[in-house]
Amino acid sequence: MKETILEMEEYAKDHNVPIIEKDSIVFIMKYIKANNVKNILEIGSAIGYSAILMASAGLDVKVTTIERDEARYMEALKNVKKCGLEKNINVVYQDALEVNLKDVEYDLIFIDAAKGQYTKFFEKFKYFLSKNGCIITDNLKFHGYVGNKDSIDSKNLKALVDKIEKYIDFLKNNPEFDTKFFDIGDGLSVSVKKDEK
Ligand code: SAM
Repeated sequence: MKETILEMEEYAKDHNVPIIEKDSIVFIMKYIKANNVKNILEIGSAIGYSAILMASAGLDVKVTTIERDEARYMEALKNVKKCGLEKNINVVYQDALEVNLKDVEYDLIFIDAAKGQYTKFFEKFKYFLSKNGCIITDNLKFHGYVGNKDSIDSKNLKALVDKIEKYIDFLKNNPEFDTKFFDIGDGLSVSVKKDEK
């Protein structure tokens, strides 16, 4: 498995596939262990790198991961098989915003897909969290652009950064969740669902 992980890191570099930073996945794996997380939903599999590492954080951790790009989905399937994790990881080839979930609950939802749609992902999938479940979001610093919009010339990039900043405000002001922000990797948030009274 270690070898496959290294191969995936090489592949990601060679094919320009964005994968999670080391510090961030180490943080998430620790969270999984510390909080006895069993069922995970990941939005944005890419080639399966973070799904494989999350699934390997414990013997009975199950991951459902969604990817809309066919080539990446195929690559993720191949890598999951190589690691012998087919029983633990279900790779779904679909746009996450079109996925229909029913009768499932996740202890952890990891949002790591299109940055402009973070709020939509959050609002759609929050209903599938278990009691005290949490939503982790990656790339909230967006390579240092967040909080530095003035330094950006491209209109599209500015609009994207604007959406991430709005998402951060949305998290900060969300009455249903307690969110903590971590200056780890490209910026992470952990939003824990508050107890329903
Ligand atoms: N989590 C992966 C890892 O760390 O190994 C990296 C994921 S990469 C940053 C984001 C992925 O999300 C891309 O492969 C992209 O195709 C996928 N994606 C973006 N929007 C999506 C959507 N609406 N539904 C499903 N996948 C999406």
